[in-house]
Amino acid sequence: MSTAEATLATTMPGEHVRIAVNSHTEPFWQAAKERRLVAPQCAECGTFRLPPTPFCPKCQSKAVNWVQLSGEATVYSFAVIHGLPGMPDLTVVPVVVDLPDAPGARLVSNVVGIAPAEVTIGMRLRVDFSPIADGWMLPVFRAADGADG
Ligand SMILES: [Zn+2]
Repeated sequence: MSTAEATLATTMPGEHVRIAVNSHTEPFWQAAKERRLVAPQCAECGTFRLPPTPFCPKCQSKAVNWVQLSGEATVYSFAVIHGLPGMPDLTVVPVVVDLPDAPGARLVSNVVGIAPAEVTIGMRLRVDFSPIADGWMLPVFRAADGADG
């Protein structure tokens, strides 16, 4: 195995990733199970409420529509972590992404399948889904690979 392959960003082994699902986040996770990325949008004023919130921060409405997104994203910020407790060989790149089709929404995720040195602010990503504990799927992001139209 080359050093380049050895340093590609990955996620924690899926069986170690557990999510807490509640009534405000369950539609997000159910959609992810079907490999769909969705975001909660206020049904009253149209504000995207990702991360999910019980009330709209703008108009206090509780009404939500879950909108399916294209899966495109750009890097807002990221970090590079070499080694986790008990997993010294792991390289993970936690990322905060902007979602172009959900203005104002931000999602915390991981960039995978790329050397950490190649990750840049503003780079274009595309969603993928990675199996985790209890049969759920975790949205992760890969480089969009010049998929420009
Ligand atoms: Zn609102």
